[in-house]
Order: sequence, then C-alpha cells, then structure tokens
Amino acid sequence: MNPSKPALTAVFFALLFAPQSLVSQELNSTFARDPGQPIDKQYTDQIHKYTTDPSFTSPLVDYLPASKTVPTPAKVLGDISGAPDILPYAEDVYRYFRLLEAATPRVKVFTIGHTEEGREMIAAAIADTALLSRAKENDARLAQLADPRTIGLDDAKARPLLDLSWPVYYITGTIHSPETGAPTALMELAYRLAVDDAPYIKYIRSHMIVLITPVVEVDGRDRMVDLYKWHKAHPGQDWPRLLYWGHYVAHDNNRDAMAMTLDLTRNVLDAYVSWHAQVLHDLHESVPFLYDNTVGDGPYNAWVDPILADEWAELGSNNVAQMRSFGMPGVFTHGDFDTWSPGYLMFLAAMHNGISRLYETFGNGGADTEKRILRPEDYSRTWYRQNPPLPVVTWSQRDNNNYEQTALLSTLSYFSRNTHHFLENFYLKGKRAVEKPTLEGPAAYVIPADAASANRQIELLKVLKRQHVEVEQLTSEISSTVPGEKRGEKPKQETFPAGSIVIRMDQPYSRIADALLDRQFWAAGDPQKHPYDDTGWCFPHLFNLKVVRVVDPSVLKAKMLPLDDPSSLAGKISGSGTLLAVANTGQISLLSLIYKLKHATIQIAEQPFEVAGTHFAAGSLLITVAAEDHIAETVHDLGLDAARLAEEPSVAMHKVNPPRIAFMHTWLSTQAEGWWRYAFDSAGVPFDYISTQAVAEQTELRAKYDVIVFAPVGRASALEILNGIPVWNNAMPWQKTDLTPNLGTIDRSDDIRPGLGYDGLAHLKTFVEQGGLLITCEDTAQFAIETGLAPGVSVAPHDDARVVGSVLNTVLVSPDNPIVFGYGSAGIPVMSANGMVFNVSNMLGRTGGRVLMDPLTDALDPYAKRATGRGSVDDSDEPQGRKIAEPEPLIKQQPWEAGPLDEEQTRNNPQVIPVQTRPDVILRFSDAKTLLLDGLLEKPGSIAEHAVVVDAHLGQGNVLLFGNNPIYRGETIGTYPLVFNAILSYGHLAHESHPASTTNSASAGLQK
Ligand SMILES: [Zn+2]
Repeated sequence: MNPSKPALTAVFFALLFAPQSLVSQELNSTFARDPGQPIDKQYTDQIHKYTTDPSFTSPLVDYLPASKTVPTPAKVLGDISGAPDILPYAEDVYRYFRLLEAATPRVKVFTIGHTEEGREMIAAAIADTALLSRAKENDARLAQLADPRTIGLDDAKARPLLDLSWPVYYITGTIHSPETGAPTALMELAYRLAVDDAPYIKYIRSHMIVLITPVVEVDGRDRMVDLYKWHKAHPGQDWPRLLYWGHYVAHDNNRDAMAMTLDLTRNVLDAYVSWHAQVLHDLHESVPFLYDNTVGDGPYNAWVDPILADEWAELGSNNVAQMRSFGMPGVFTHGDFDTWSPGYLMFLAAMHNGISRLYETFGNGGADTEKRILRPEDYSRTWYRQNPPLPVVTWSQRDNNNYEQTALLSTLSYFSRNTHHFLENFYLKGKRAVEKPTLEGPAAYVIPADAASANRQIELLKVLKRQHVEVEQLTSEISSTVPGEKRGEKPKQETFPAGSIVIRMDQPYSRIADALLDRQFWAAGDPQKHPYDDTGWCFPHLFNLKVVRVVDPSVLKAKMLPLDDPSSLAGKISGSGTLLAVANTGQISLLSLIYKLKHATIQIAEQPFEVAGTHFAAGSLLITVAAEDHIAETVHDLGLDAARLAEEPSVAMHKVNPPRIAFMHTWLSTQAEGWWRYAFDSAGVPFDYISTQAVAEQTELRAKYDVIVFAPVGRASALEILNGIPVWNNAMPWQKTDLTPNLGTIDRSDDIRPGLGYDGLAHLKTFVEQGGLLITCEDTAQFAIETGLAPGVSVAPHDDARVVGSVLNTVLVSPDNPIVFGYGSAGIPVMSANGMVFNVSNMLGRTGGRVLMDPLTDALDPYAKRATGRGSVDDSDEPQGRKIAEPEPLIKQQPWEAGPLDEEQTRNNPQVIPVQTRPDVILRFSDAKTLLLDGLLEKPGSIAEHAVVVDAHLGQGNVLLFGNNPIYRGETIGTYPLVFNAILSYGHLAHESHPASTTNSASAGLQK
C-alpha cells in the first residue's frame, strides 16, 4: 500500500462529505438517489476509502443502496468491488451472479457455452420481473424485427412490435485478461441495477434488459488471478507477464470477429444473436481514464449502415457529456482508433445490425493501488479532450470500477429513455440489410461449384455459418451478368453450374458476408496515418477461392436450396479398385490424413499423372487402405474426395511416414504461434509442444523429430530469442501449484526467463544439418537468417514500402517444389504484415538483391553502366580501328534471384555457396502494378518481385522462411497448405533438379 494512504484517506472523507458531491447531484437531478432507500454504510465507507481522488467518482456510484435480501459483492469478495489486493476467479464472479439470481427475480443467469479449456461462460440478464418473466414473448417480437422478412418488410407491421418491445443491451467484461477491473465493476453494476431504487435505475430496469457476461476470456482470467496471487505472495519480486491469455491467443481474441475461430467469439455472438440484442459493449483497459471509443476515428468500415455511424456519434457524445457533468477528468470519445477492420468482438454487433461499443478505462494490471505517471500524449488537452487526465495520479482498481460503472449507468439511462428510437434503428438496419440487392448491392456472392476447391470452400462456409449467414446451393446451372474487374470494363456473362454456392444479400446478416467477401482498399493518402489493425482481409483471396460478386438481382430468382451442412461438398469416393488416390488441390487436411490413416500405406506422387482422364497434380496421395481406417468416414471428416484406382499409376513416388513434429515456442510471447497451434490442432496434426528452453536441453533433436515449427513470436529480435528475459532479478516460475492451479498446464517452466541460448541454437543447427526441416516465419525467419541457419538469404530492406496487414499477390517461382504442390500455376494471395521480403545470394557476406528502378538509371542493371558511345543503352560500344572483342554477355538479375556468379567471382572464393546449398525461392511478390490485392500499399518498389517464401538449405536439411504469415488468425486458409506441404515432404525438399551452373535458371535472360 502507498505509505501516504492514511493522510490521503482523511482528505477524501473531508471532500466526499463536503458539499461538492451534493452540489453536482442537485444540479444533475437525472441521477438523483431515492432518498427513502437506506444505504449500505459499511460498503459505502469502503468505496470512499478506496477512491483515491474525489473527482474519480460520481453521485451514481459513491454509495451503495442497502438490501435486506440481496447480497452485495462483498459476500463473495470479502470486501467491496474494486478493493485493493482482490481479484476474483471467474468461478467466484459466477458464484456471486448466482447468489443474485437466488436472491432476486430481477436477475437470471445462463450458461452461454464453454471455453477451449472447458470453463463455463455465463450471461446474466437483469430487468424487472415483469420484463424477465415475459422475456420469451419479447424475444419473439425482437426476432421479427431482427428478420424483417418475417413481416414482409412492412413498417406497418413493425410498428406495434416496436411499441411493445424492450431492447437488450449486452455488456461484456475482461476479454483481455491483464485488463482486470471489469468483473468486479460488473458484479456491483448488477447489484445496483437489481436493487437501487433511484428513479433513473428503476426506469432502466423497467424499460430494457441488461445482459452481462462478466468474464469473456475465462481461461486467461483464471491464469491472471493465479499470477496476481503469486505476486502478492512474493512482494518486491518481479512477476511474469501473462502468457496464454487464452488457450491459443492473447490480445488477438479481440481480432477474431471475422473468422470466429475461438470459442469465446462464437459463444458471445450466439448469445448476442439468440437474445436479438441491440448493443454489444466491451470493456477494456489501457489509456487513462475512460476512452469511449464508440465514435473512434476514420476511416469507418465501408460496409456498416450509416444509421450505425449516427448511433455511435449519438451514444458516444452523450456519454462523454454526462461524464463531464459529473466532473470526472479524462473522459473522451474521439481518439485515433479507426473503425475500419471488423475484427473486434464488439464489431459482431456492428455487422449484425446492432451497435458496437467499447470503453478503454485505466487499469493497473491487477488490484494494486499504484502511482501512475502519464505520458504527455495521454494528459495533453486536445480538441476532443478538454478535461484531460491528470499527469500524475495514485490509481486504484476502485477508481477504475467507478469510471466503468458511472459511464455504463449513465449510458444505460440514456438508452432506456430512447428505447423506441434504438429499436426502430435496429429494425431499419435489418430491413436495409435485406434490401441490399436493390439498394447498394451486390445481389449475391456466388462460389462456383468446383470439386478441387471444395475443401477450402467448406472452411469458408463454416465461417459464414458461424456468422449466422444463410448459405444456399443452386439446383441447376444459371448464367448471370457480373461487372468487369475494373471500373469502366464491360460487364460479362458468367455461368455457374448446379451445386454452386449462393450467399444471398437479401438476408438480415448480409452485411457481415459482404464485409468478408468483398475487397478492401485503403488509400495511401488517407488522413488516418496509423491504421489500427489490418487494412485488408478479403476472405476469397485469403482462402484462395474464386468467389464472384454478382450485382444482377436476377440471380436471386434462380432455384436454390439451403445448404445446411457445408461438409456435404466433399467426402465422395469414386471409382473402384484397391488403391485410393487423393488429388492434391491445396486442401488443408492432406497432412492430417497421414495421421488419421494409421494402418494404411501412403505414397506421395512426385509428378502429376492422369488416370482415366482425371488429372492428379504432383503431391497427390496414393493410399493402400487397411479396413480399420474407416476410409469413407475419414475422407468425409477431413473434407476430402478420393478416387479408387484399379492399378498404381507409373509415376515417381515415395512412401510417406507421418512426420514427427515439434512445435517450439518461446516464453516471450505465445500469441502468433498460438494461431499456428490452433491451425494444427483444428486440422488434426499432432505435435510435441516444446519451449526454446527444452531445445537448449535436448542434444538429440533429430532422433526425436523430423520437423520443428518455429512460428512467429511477434516482433522478437534474434537476441531476445537467444537471451530470453534478463536474469538479473528473481526467477519467474510458470508452474501448476496450490497457489497457481491454472498455470503450467499448456507448458511449464521453473523459470521462464532463459531463452534458447547458444546451446539451443547449436542443437537447432545440428537438427537441420542432420536432415530436419525448420519452419520459420517473420521474426523467426529473421532469427534463422541472423544466426546463420539460412545461408544465402537476407532480409531485404523494405522500410520505405508501406504495407499494414495487406493482402498481396505472389508468383510461383518454383512451381515444381513440393511446398507448392496442389497450387497449380496461378499466384497465391498472401497476408503480409509489413511487406517483409528476402534477398537471396549465391555467396555469403554482403550481397543480395536489388530494388526495382528505372532500367535506364538502375546502377545494378549491367547494361545501364555502359559508357558513352555508339548504339543504344542495350548495345555495347565498339572501339574503332581494331577487331571487335565480344564481352561476356551480361545477365540481368531479377529482383527475386541471386546474382549470377562468373569465374572472376568464384575463383578461390570460400564465400561461394555450394550449388546444393543455395536457397530456393518458392514464391515472390508480383510486380508493383499487380501486387496489391486488398488493403494498403504505398511505394511498393522495394518489395515488388522480391522473394517472399524461401527454402534455405543447411547440411542435409532445410530452413523454410516465410516473409508473409501463412497461418494467421484463422483467416489465411489459402496458405496453410504451404506449411503442411512442406511438412509432408520434409525429406524431399533438396533441390536435386537445380541446374548445377553458376548462372541462374531459365528466368534469367539477356536484356534485349
Ligand atoms: Zn483490451
């Protein structure tokens, strides 16, 4: 505790019972207390005691009404909400909500699902008994308003529904586990809403239902409470930062509202949709003291209904004005958070005809009361923050709880006074979503039937289903007019075969489908210079699928039927014979098949082959199945098709043994790798999960593993990966103990500080040299390069190019390489965080690629260096008066290639990399004109045509380097197979076919 506490406390009492709060209460009678209701003196005293400055509270929360029957949060917490040193586990929070439910008919608690680790998620509904007892009838009305097709889009039929209905306002707490204040604030808020007889609260509970999920990330909450308990038990010591907020990811659980991979996202959306709620309001903690980022900043997401933008402005501005009237400093609603990406949890509502809202309040990452020193950008007065936060404060969890509750209560009050207006908007947004084909369009998105893409189509349709989007399938072929690719191009006719998928836009949740399936463009000159998150996410590109945007509304008249089960698109086994062939068409589950068919003999074709007119690409699997493998079921479950063959095709092939995979993580951060772990788990690819510390201990890696996956850490340097966290102070255990029962379950360490170390690096190097495959990406690729694991590869300078989570186009450089088996010849769209690219070289040392420049002035273009003389820039000069001596032909190096070496460079040069050890470029970015698919791209010169996926060779093994992230947020299904193919062919990535010459391959040519 702060030593100056007693003195401060004395000051509070003087101020709190002085006229100040009474005055503001009298002036602002909207939030006056019920003078007849007694207050809970003891609880109220504690509120005052833990509030560190009189301006950090309000007349709404500076007392607690007393109840003879309903327990206060103190019953469970042992002290009040926001008391120092107390962080309840989710289970304790739930216990309190269930005590409330038992004590008052105004509270009902529901299970809304479970987490990846099996913990319960709840929602509590709070309103007058009269509302809760008729919640079902109300919901039946809201369901009609939510889907205006049910009333024929008839406003006259909507009116009585609007008059009779009351709205549902859904508040969610602590999605981000180190942001710890919300659960206790929401416990007390629930008590107030159920018990307080202040007229404005009575009005709230008689006019709307407040739905509360007090803990969204339950797995992470329990780990955070463990850590906090460890911290309290070890005063004065450093305590670990929270790893494994959730089972898979950390902060990114608030980026999952697009692909909806995590249980918490699915559970919250299901609850939101099933209650037909109007608002989803998330509580976060970061900036001081309360940023209501409902209004945010531009650019706004291009697919939201303008009604929503008006609602943001209305609610945000009103909320901030109310808070200002209470004299609470540091409340604002503008800020520079752009509302472009629809990935945030709250955005589930924005994309499902509701209102998305989010508060950032100030928090200490635990329940300690701390002196906090703010940065100038946080305490400066700006046009949108006229009463800014104080520059230095003593901040408590109670202060946080005061801000959260005051803001919520005042906004609920406003909402309760305007329920008709917000319900009407809810209905209108649903109606306009259904009218999309005839308003702004498009009419539909069509995914043409295509067996080769079915596996990835299923994955996309699963996302749309999780988003509650209706999916249909054509029963017969149709022809439709589709717009040209570019503005000004003529529309063209496109034919869609029977079985093609139609996502109709005349449905209530058309907006989310439109936002995911359309393309995104972020202008380089946009006034917003700091995109908050990804600027592009077009799912058809990221899933490597053809999806056609159809504006012609006649498509909606075609005969189609609902497609309830997307998995029905695959699972066929055709033909007869004992041998089974599964064509490689870029499915995400070929690798899983190897593990599922435990008793089968599986071979992989090294070249393409034809059987009875059917083409099988290189990388197709040939399987002799054992009966116990239940092949039909397995093929169906994995979304694959198979063909029975009468005899083995005559094609080069080799046997596949299930690769033994280790998944190596650091103790620095586990989020980016968490998305990879999620992908492996959900695809059914087994692995050992080991830390860099385990690799440091393990001398015989190759004996145990064939592949080590070192997924991105997240902006970690090579030194950080090697050194870990400084070991100057105390050890930081991550262990399951009586004190910390939720730690040490995914992985454990006596002390998470040490990193990979030089022993670990040596072990990794030996592993690769002995034939292992090391897979790296972004920062771990940089690590591999900087530590000498990837001879001939360097990270190309790319700082001048501006890429912020953009979808970029690539070209296959080595179309026969097993890593791109199944991809055909077209380029693969990739997600690029910042435009990371590689240079490759045939020599060690300072070498590498070139940037694209004007060929006439490019210093690296050999012909640009010619001297003044006869001919053109492409000719050689010719001295007069002697025989012409032909120079060595100069070879133009392409940006993705290694510079060719001649005898001058290779003579007695130990730096020259042996041919079999030179890196193979698998994918490169396309040229500057065609590089951008979705999002932001500015100054592409330094990255265009550069290598983005490279396979480096070291000893007998391989180090695969990704500049893009092929496994990202469950959104990049189209590039998963690059990783899985590499694993499948881990022992066959050596480039035997590479021409043993000093010059480059066919793509290198003379410039004419
Ligand atoms: Zn947060």
